[in-house]
This record gives sequence, C-alpha cells and structure tokens, in this order.
Amino acid sequence: MDGRGDKSILVLDTSLLRIMRARIIKDFRFEAAHTLPSLPSDHKCRQMHGHSFKVEIHVEGEVNPEIGWVYDHKCISDAMKPLIDLMDHSYLNDIKGLESPTIEVIAAWFWRKLEKDLPGLCEIVIYETPTARCSFRGEF
Ligand SMILES: [Zn+2]
Repeated sequence: MDGRGDKSILVLDTSLLRIMRARIIKDFRFEAAHTLPSLPSDHKCRQMHGHSFKVEIHVEGEVNPEIGWVYDHKCISDAMKPLIDLMDHSYLNDIKGLESPTIEVIAAWFWRKLEKDLPGLCEIVIYETPTARCSFRGEF
C-alpha cells in the first residue's frame, strides 16, 4: 500500500475551484406575534396573531480555492444571532422599523441589518407559513 489513495482525498482540485462561484444558504427560525395595522379592521391579519417564521439567508461568491467554500456558514449565524434574539417571542410591531411587519418589510429590515456584515448577500426569503413567503433581493 503506497498511501496515494488516502492522500488524494485531502487534495482539492484548485484548477476547478479557481473559477467556481456558488451560493450558500442558511436557515433560521423564530416565533413572533404581529398585527398589520394598515389593513381594514375586518381583515383577520389586523388582529394580533403569531407565526413560526423561517428565514433563509443566501450569499453568493467565489469559492476560496484554498479551503473550498464561499465562506463559513458561521459568519451568517453570527450576524443573525442578535437579530433572532431580538425577534424571537417578540411582538414585532414594537421593534423599530417593524411598525407594519409584513414579510416584505421584515425581509427589508433583515437586509439593512445584514448587508454590511455579509459580503455577497443576494437574497433573503421570509416564510410566514409553510406555503406563504417573500423573496427579496435587495432591490430598494
Ligand atoms: Zn401574520
């Protein structure tokens, strides 16, 4: 046995990765209550209610040929932690900038908070229910 088989597992094909771009995605969840105060009083979303929100954070960039990743998913987790801590089990309307917390407004709020810390941020998806979501690509 010459060991070449084992060694080849550890060597990246850097000629391939040098020209590679990829998107990495990390999911987060939080529970929160909200009302949508701009809706007519007979609309059910005008009443206080809650959701189990899911957030997808998408980042695109060149794959680092030395490591083989765009960047560490932990960077996304670190940037999101204070935001999730703020929002989880909150009444969203009480948070500055979320006075009318539709999923569109929530996506824009996350974008503003994350754009300086997450190079390559390219899409945020907010799920209000398993079948209703908003995709936002930073187009203000
Ligand atoms: Zn709602």
